[in-house]
Amino acid sequence: VTASPNTTTLGGRELAAELRRRTAEAAATLAAAGRPPRLAIVVATADESSAWYVRSIAKAAAAAGIVCDIVSPAPTEIHTVLSRLGADDDVHGIILQTPLPAGIDVGDLTPAIPPAKDVDGANPTSLGRLAAGQPAFPPATAEAVLALLDHHGVALAGRHAVVVGRSMVVGKPAAHLLLDRDATVTICHSRTSDLAAVTRQADVLVAAVGRPGLITPEHVSPGTVVIDVGTNPTADGGLVGDVDPAVAETAAGLTPVPGGVGPVTTALLLQHTVRAAGGP
Ligand code: NAP
Repeated sequence: VTASPNTTTLGGRELAAELRRRTAEAAATLAAAGRPPRLAIVVATADESSAWYVRSIAKAAAAAGIVCDIVSPAPTEIHTVLSRLGADDDVHGIILQTPLPAGIDVGDLTPAIPPAKDVDGANPTSLGRLAAGQPAFPPATAEAVLALLDHHGVALAGRHAVVVGRSMVVGKPAAHLLLDRDATVTICHSRTSDLAAVTRQADVLVAAVGRPGLITPEHVSPGTVVIDVGTNPTADGGLVGDVDPAVAETAAGLTPVPGGVGPVTTALLLQHTVRAAGGP
């Protein structure tokens, strides 16, 4: 993203480094007390972009002193493996990596992750608790949106937040977290008519769709802060968001892709794992 003089680039790398530093400290304390934090990532497909993501989490976990097991069950064994990890006292966090093999419904499997170990908020019970204002791990990506807004000092109370996307992993939990912070929240999706008319009303606009360039300058008013959650692979091996870079000419702030939501998401997954192990 080429930032214009009017736009602040709301980067995530500095915040991610600070979160990882605190997580490593907490992990060292737990390890010294004989309780090294342990994360299990269950991977059931050979999808290349997800393999890249899993390797990056495993590397960040190792650097923070978190033991990370990558478990690759056969499709028919995923539920059994999740239940076994759920019952294993030495495992503190469990991530079920998507996509899953064709014909397998993620909703049939995530209830097998105990909420106390559900560090990426995938169990519907975690989302229900979030909606009910009860303690739960939010999906790390949704929490990363809030963490970035806070880090860059963006006020939320009384302001209009528009979330584009209503998935269980990003859109819905992000909307609940924004509501919890007293924003007035609108959720848009593929059936929203005149998307631009809605998004132009946003003080804070969160794009979580998975379509490069969906959000154009026409969708953004001057003064809007835009959080781009989209991660869309490009033909040359790069990554672009959902927001057209030209939006930087109008928006007050814009997250870069890569280097915005992504690194904060990974750092929060590790923070959740340490918390699940009893850390601060
Ligand atoms: P998803 O499950 O495919 O959901 C996409 C949402 O976008 C759906 O609610 C869909 O509406 C809506 N949508 C599709 N086309 C639209 C349109 N033309 N106008 C308005 N809304 C539209 O995707 P997801 O898992 O939430 O992920 C969204 C993006 O975030 C992807 O690019 C993904 O790679 C990225 N992501 C990034 C991270 C990270 O760490 N940075 C983590 C997770 C995901 P319907 O509900 O009506 O179909």
